[in-house]
Amino acid sequence: MTGQQFSTTEMLARLVAFDTTSRNSNLALIEFVRDYLAGHGVAVELIHNEDRTKANLYATIGPVDRPGGIVLSGHSDVVPVDGQDWSSEPFTLDTRDGRLYGRGTADMKGFIAAALAHVPEFVAARAETPVHLALSYDEEIGCVGVHGMVDHIRAHLPQPELVLVGEPTEMKLVNAHKGIRSFVTEVTGSEAHSSNTHLGVNAVEVAARLIGFLGQLRDEMQRRGDASGRFDPPYTSVHVGVIRGGTALNIIPRQCRFHWEFRALPDQDEDAIIERFNRFACEEVLPPLREVAADADIQTIAQAAVPPLVPFDDCPAEALVRALTGDNAPLAVSYGTEAGIFQHADIPAVICGPGSIEQAHKPDEFVTVAQLDACDRFLSRLAAHIAAGGTEG
Ligand SMILES: [Zn+2]
Repeated sequence: MTGQQFSTTEMLARLVAFDTTSRNSNLALIEFVRDYLAGHGVAVELIHNEDRTKANLYATIGPVDRPGGIVLSGHSDVVPVDGQDWSSEPFTLDTRDGRLYGRGTADMKGFIAAALAHVPEFVAARAETPVHLALSYDEEIGCVGVHGMVDHIRAHLPQPELVLVGEPTEMKLVNAHKGIRSFVTEVTGSEAHSSNTHLGVNAVEVAARLIGFLGQLRDEMQRRGDASGRFDPPYTSVHVGVIRGGTALNIIPRQCRFHWEFRALPDQDEDAIIERFNRFACEEVLPPLREVAADADIQTIAQAAVPPLVPFDDCPAEALVRALTGDNAPLAVSYGTEAGIFQHADIPAVICGPGSIEQAHKPDEFVTVAQLDACDRFLSRLAAHIAAGGTEG
């Protein structure tokens, strides 16, 4: 089998050129990767979304019928460039001063490019240990796409031993991250002329009360702190990001909705936060409103949920990265990743990838040539490691 060969930089240029902003289809990128892998004789499965406009890709190099093996995981989508002031075209890889600029270079097409460029090396290793590639969609809008792939693996495929998620960590080992839960709360009040405040239910003011309660929870979490001493900020954070309500100053507003989230330390009881919020809304705030307007209501709808990544003793994913990098000082990060979702599905995962989260989501996003070189060395060591017959250090 003679497939195409790419350096990591050449592959990155190809991947960046696909505008895989989450609102777009990722199929052009996925089909390009599928064809590239097929050229190297690698078995590929696509796991589509319901309307078949997007797909996850799961590929196996080496034996396809046995459990175990190492998953190299990345998300194919990127955040929008709308309203950002870029010095070069964001979807054209631009090399300046040892840096490769373009949307997704750090988050996280750099890692995907390196993994793909090493496919010929993994194939040549003819190892007993499979290397799997897992590319997801819609990570940037709440880790939406990967669930379909994880469910598919669990239901239909041999279980891999461990997952390396290549989010940008400057090639450092990350074995813990916070969990994310996000919500929309919709308040339904009752209109009246603004002079008759006693006849209406002011949805904006109700929302303000609820947001005030979230502020109390936030302060309480801050006081409780982080017993592990590993996270920055060292507490479960609570945040309201968007609010919309009201139509005119002289109308008591009937509707108000706000979007909020919390990012929980791994040892935080996440449901307890939601239960307390709902209890406050339903037992304290709502009953007096219903006396004014029978259809007054407060509805909180769950949006994204990303489980935390929880470190544990003898984690095989951690052992492998320690062995390959020599990094024995794992870090914890406050952003969520698909690693938490893999771990939640009983597939141990850690994070290690090129580039810095400092450059992610910003204009002039870049990854340095030095970081990609470090990732290339890491993957070559991985190829040698599986060729020698191991999965762990
Ligand atoms: Zn990312």
